[in-house]
Amino acid sequence: MKRPENNSAATYLVGGGIASLAAAAFLIRDGDVQGHTITVIEESSRIGGSLDAAGNAEDGYVMRGGRMIESKYLCTYDLFSSIPALDGSRTVTQEIFEWNKTMTTASKSRLFRDGRRVDAPKFGLDEGHILAIERLALEPESLLGRSKISDQFSPTFFETDFWLMWCTTFAFQPWHSAVELKRYLVRFAHMVSGFNTLTGIMRTLYNQYDSMVRPLQKWLQERGVNFLYNTRVSDITLFQGDAGFWARQIATEESGCPKTIMVGEQDRVIVTLGSMTEASSLGSMDSPAIQLGKADGPSWQLWERLAKGRSVFGNPVSFADHIQQSKWVSFTTTLHDPAFFRLVRDLTGNVPGEGGLITFPESSWLASIVLPHQPHFIGQADGVDVFWGYGLFVDEPGNFVKKPMSACTGREIMTEIIGHLRLDSHAGGILDTSTCIPCMMPFITSQFLPRSAGDRPQVVPEGSNNLALIGQYCELPDDVVFTVEYSIRSAQTAVYSLLGLKKSPPPVYKGKYNPRVLLEAFMALHGIEA
Ligand code: FAD
Repeated sequence: MKRPENNSAATYLVGGGIASLAAAAFLIRDGDVQGHTITVIEESSRIGGSLDAAGNAEDGYVMRGGRMIESKYLCTYDLFSSIPALDGSRTVTQEIFEWNKTMTTASKSRLFRDGRRVDAPKFGLDEGHILAIERLALEPESLLGRSKISDQFSPTFFETDFWLMWCTTFAFQPWHSAVELKRYLVRFAHMVSGFNTLTGIMRTLYNQYDSMVRPLQKWLQERGVNFLYNTRVSDITLFQGDAGFWARQIATEESGCPKTIMVGEQDRVIVTLGSMTEASSLGSMDSPAIQLGKADGPSWQLWERLAKGRSVFGNPVSFADHIQQSKWVSFTTTLHDPAFFRLVRDLTGNVPGEGGLITFPESSWLASIVLPHQPHFIGQADGVDVFWGYGLFVDEPGNFVKKPMSACTGREIMTEIIGHLRLDSHAGGILDTSTCIPCMMPFITSQFLPRSAGDRPQVVPEGSNNLALIGQYCELPDDVVFTVEYSIRSAQTAVYSLLGLKKSPPPVYKGKYNPRVLLEAFMALHGIEA
């Protein structure tokens, strides 16, 4: 592959999520590329993509997701070790590690069953389940193929508290890819022993938009990076030559107005393929979030155009065409009365920020909530609290509100959560002083759907001279999707490769080569106390 060598060549980054922002930073930091030569093209009016948080106390805050991170997000910490936190006192990486010494996750209520907390639930695995886990961890991906998790385990596995905690921590479903579960088991082997108390889970000081995206955006803006908002990329024209292919034109629509960006032979194009939050929609306290589809955003359409007749671009159909298997609903609740947080603290034995995910096993929605440390937003007023939650089975009628979660208003979702917490006597006061905003995400677990080898394209597709593919749907051996780390690793891989740098991203951490990690995981799976 011929590498562009001119560092004043233009770079176009399609999509404004963390993958593109990270790519811009690596271009500047490690490739000596000048910021003003980089353009981020984003369809929406703000950057951050899936790594979002917005709103205010009056109208209600919204986070489509609340992210857990951990100590082996090596590319993430590498990137953010160069990015100052917003107050300039330290780097974002330092802020994260210092914060997690102050607020260490130690759940005393990972499951909240029958109105009571379960402290450090037992995994409940039998020998057959453990053998199946061990076999899956060893089985080559090529043999697992498109198989589902449910193809690899007996039905009783899905009744264990291990599965209940695993599927709600990571949002897995029995019909998801066995390869993906295998990767998770291996990648997070070092976390299995503390899994029932969420030991090792790290958080950012504020929500991830305020703690990660904003400092990174500021750093990029200070270096002259251009941001094109409200601009969709509808197609990328490729030129096929004897020495491979080049991206030569980018077709955009800016507020409905078509334009063409000409791409020179030395220029680069880095595309975030697909998006787990594509076509997501918000409801309100009194209206449900409606379900949109593939045609309601440009992300899948662009990938489909690129992949048409070109197998090196993978197969978007595996991820984009199964909304029934990939959707779920999250919600963000803003509270103007401290009672709810105080009551949940007393019920769970954890102060906000300490406990992490609390799952209600009886919930027919399989609902979970997280009460983060407050304030969770920069500028959040005293006396206002914000928490996040989600449900995995959104078409099942609730236990208290006899409606599917997908059809519920924010008020109904809060009523259901209050029911599971047995806080009915406080319901009126809580509902009168809170704003709950539901969010329907049709593609939220699309990256977990069964896939064949080649469905996820390589970061630099074979034959490409100036185009790379990043984000959650490209292939990075060993690492796991549905993580910030995967997007940042893909960006680092793309930049080093396109610039021809003699550098590599930090290798994926492999706890399986650490005997202590293996022993602790083995003991935990068998329920042997350390
Ligand atoms: P995205 O953030 O999806 O960015 C893609 C961007 O490209 C979007 O802004 C989109 O508008 C834009 N775009 C797409 N197509 C076009 C086009 N054609 N033209 C112009 N713009 C376009 N990660 C963790 O590490 N831990 C967690 O616990 C965790 N939990 C999560 C929970 C939820 C509910 C969610 C939503 C995410 C969670 N994540 C978690 C995942 C993490 O947030 C994502 O993996 C990451 O943010 C994806 O970043 P990205 O840049 O690859 O893609």
